[in-house]
Amino acid sequence: MRKPIFFILLIVVIPLIVFLVWGSLKVANSLKVKAQLRDQEVYQARFTHKDYTIVKGDVIVAILQKEAGLDYDTTTKIINSINKAQKGLQIKEGNKINFIYFDGIFQGLSYDINDEKFIKVSVENGNVNSVVENIPYEVEVVVNKGTIQSSFYADGVSVGLTPRVIMELAGVFAWDIDFVNSLYEGDNFYLVYEKLIRDGEAVGTRDILAARFTNDGTDYYAYRVVDEKGNIKYYAENGDAKKRLLLKTPLNFKRISSQFTRSRRHPVTGAWRAHKGIDLAASTGTPVESVGDGVVTYAGNNGGYGKFIKINHGQGFATAYAHLSKIYIKNGARVTQGQLIGAVGTTGTSTGPHLHYEMHKNGVVVHPFNTEVPKDVPIPKDLKPQLAETVAEYKEKLN
Ligand SMILES: [Zn+2]
Repeated sequence: MRKPIFFILLIVVIPLIVFLVWGSLKVANSLKVKAQLRDQEVYQARFTHKDYTIVKGDVIVAILQKEAGLDYDTTTKIINSINKAQKGLQIKEGNKINFIYFDGIFQGLSYDINDEKFIKVSVENGNVNSVVENIPYEVEVVVNKGTIQSSFYADGVSVGLTPRVIMELAGVFAWDIDFVNSLYEGDNFYLVYEKLIRDGEAVGTRDILAARFTNDGTDYYAYRVVDEKGNIKYYAENGDAKKRLLLKTPLNFKRISSQFTRSRRHPVTGAWRAHKGIDLAASTGTPVESVGDGVVTYAGNNGGYGKFIKINHGQGFATAYAHLSKIYIKNGARVTQGQLIGAVGTTGTSTGPHLHYEMHKNGVVVHPFNTEVPKDVPIPKDLKPQLAETVAEYKEKLN
């Protein structure tokens, strides 16, 4: 009878003891963790923050002295430290400086340099240290869509897109679609983009990852690709660049979207054959952009054309802009795609404000909207897998 008792002891009592000891240790441990957390919370609560919004004419020295109550010595140290970490940093009107205190004593500050980076300045025992760090965003991928009913801008806002995303979407398709004059009721768009969350709050957006825009029955797709240097380009599914030698139109939606409250019908119909060029509806003063990189071959008065600009883009292409009210560039100047070159007017032989726009191909005037314009180089081989991945992940969300 002794052996069974020994066994019972072995298989029941010992594990029971182990279990009880382990359990009580666990309880003690969790109490300890809780206490630590509570301590941490109490500790964290001793940190307080104060935001200061920069106003016009502010200088950092005055802000530090007035808003943070710092003496001359500390202020100088902070400025030197900031300059060392981020040379030439300029504070911007409307941005915020976040002051950090511990038990009411100044500990330092943080300031967003841009959307991606912030500078953190800590002051401890008279020593100042500044570091530039990435803003710790959480990224949420969002799918959205809309239909053109009144104007791209208003229709974008109505489905919850921010002005920035609307402009970026127009930028993605700037070589395919004339967003100012050629959107139709019923055109629609689908897009996948990154929403940025900081400390639990939606604070903005980052890139459009994939998008589709259906304009006048034609589907245009674009997928984001990032190269090893961090440069972003958009490609079609087959690897063709979205970027082309020339933009679709010299009237950039990004510059003038606020002027448009409803979509317009195509302004060209019927007028094309008559005078070799298209007349784009726009009011006096509307900004005019160069549709491509190039060299200005004419900038000045030109008879019936009034104030006139002509630009040579290479590869046999040239463009001309007439009846302008203002010219911002000089003959012989180099211009870049999207550069502001003039403003719409009604100079020369013109019945009212509009932009007369011409595209020349090998010396012949061609229809700018119907002419195939050379594309940028296709996607490099090493980035093809990334494009394929993006297409696989998002294409079906664009339907
Ligand atoms: Zn005309």
